Amino acid sequence: MTNETLELLRDLLKRPSVTPDDAGCQAAIAARLSATGFQVESLRFADVDNLWAVHGSGAPLICLAGHTDVVPTGREDLWTSPPFEPTERDGILYARGASDMKASDAAMAIALERVAREGHAGTIALLLTSDEEGSGIHGTRAVLDALVSRGVVINAAIVGEPTSEHVFGDVLKNGRRGSMTGQIRISGIQGHTAYPQLADNAVHKAAPALAELCAISWGLGDANFPPTTLQVSNFTAGTGANNVIPGECMVQFNIRFGASQTPEWIQSKVEEVFTSHGIVDPIAWSVSAYPFVTEAGPLVNSLQSAVLSETGVQPRCSTSGGTSDARFFAAHGIPVAEFGPLNASIHAIDEHVDIACLEPLTRVYERVLRLLTKA
Ligand SMILES: [Zn+2]
Repeated sequence: MTNETLELLRDLLKRPSVTPDDAGCQAAIAARLSATGFQVESLRFADVDNLWAVHGSGAPLICLAGHTDVVPTGREDLWTSPPFEPTERDGILYARGASDMKASDAAMAIALERVAREGHAGTIALLLTSDEEGSGIHGTRAVLDALVSRGVVINAAIVGEPTSEHVFGDVLKNGRRGSMTGQIRISGIQGHTAYPQLADNAVHKAAPALAELCAISWGLGDANFPPTTLQVSNFTAGTGANNVIPGECMVQFNIRFGASQTPEWIQSKVEEVFTSHGIVDPIAWSVSAYPFVTEAGPLVNSLQSAVLSETGVQPRCSTSGGTSDARFFAAHGIPVAEFGPLNASIHAIDEHVDIACLEPLTRVYERVLRLLTKA
């Protein structure tokens, strides 16, 4: 039997679709789907290609979603084989995007074709973007805004991000943590290192406050979310000269948080720390993702049972890891869950996917589409 998913995956992996360039991936999938009777629509916003394809009519509308863009390769000479020449070694397929997330893109497209051919109730759909690894402004978010404004109602969505951790099928995501960033410019007084009495060293001011910031106890998390974490992501100070006391320093920190803690509460905890060290410079805050969770219900139950049936592994629900486009579905109140292959090599040199998981992955998506569109 030919492995349709593998063939399509190889074709996608040859296309160097580094964000926001789709490099023809969506056109290749669109051609296949329209040949199977899907209505296919390209939605280009700014420099981002997006694809919306539907088959059938009426409710329920079940949407599979993914991204065709990939992160840059890094140093190509460190790759065992060229990153945009998919290469098989010992049953593993190596290429940039193999696991994040062209394997799922291919599997979702083939699953949709099979279910469309066989017939189904309601509507099945595919949403692809080429701006998931970038800012995301002109990708899934913009497509959903456009669809909602024309009255399209999506009843459930499955995003194909690589969620498996140790063995294929062990983890699905039923939510994601929020992400917020704070940045503060701590001011002191610049001077000569030989005359510290005439200056106010901004780094010396920052250090004890940062030590306390990194040691804040955020609690234990809850049933749906791991504990909140804070990491300093950028710290700059100094002129480069060894005899100048820095008059200011910039600190940036990123916080990942669950649904039981609000951004406002987190901000006040952080502000308290700086204030207690006499630092009153303003903190610039931005929240790039709000946490969400899809509670147990038809979507999560169907996905869990589909994964168990096709992989033999009982997946556990997790909300860990980074953000994903699932948050844009959640923002519209659409139940959303994520499932895909192992994530160990994503964004890394020699990114890869196990060829043996491609057919079961395709069948997971097929099965969940059937379960959710049952009349
Ligand atoms: Zn991804």
